[in-house]
Amino acid sequence: MAEHITKEFNAASFYEYLREGKFMGVRCVSCGQLAVEARAICQSCHSTEVIWVEFSGKGQLATFTCISIVPQSMAEKGYGRDNPYCSGIVMLDEGPRISARILNVDTLNPQGIKIGMKMQLELEDLSEGIPVLAFRPD
Ligand SMILES: [Zn+2]
Repeated sequence: MAEHITKEFNAASFYEYLREGKFMGVRCVSCGQLAVEARAICQSCHSTEVIWVEFSGKGQLATFTCISIVPQSMAEKGYGRDNPYCSGIVMLDEGPRISARILNVDTLNPQGIKIGMKMQLELEDLSEGIPVLAFRPD
């Protein structure tokens, strides 16, 4: 029987998968609950029988905010009063909601950003450090 290799259920594995271009979450074998935060225990029924599943990377914008008073780390990337960045919650087609950066939207005209917009996963800064989970309009 072939040995089945599975990564540990934690954030490090999640980001490792992301760097491989895979947007993975965890599904409970017992109750079917899906989660983006990789944990070895189902948050719904506390079963430890969980498996990795790959999400489509598609979803819709549930809520967002454009931030113009930025932390130092974002100021260093060129964001600020003249170039706000957008942070939002995306509801994945599979159900779970995650917070992410929202790219390719006009943050100086946030009235043009619509709740319910179709979103697509966009992996940014994959080369260095922790990748940024981000979405752009699909
Ligand atoms: Zn469960």
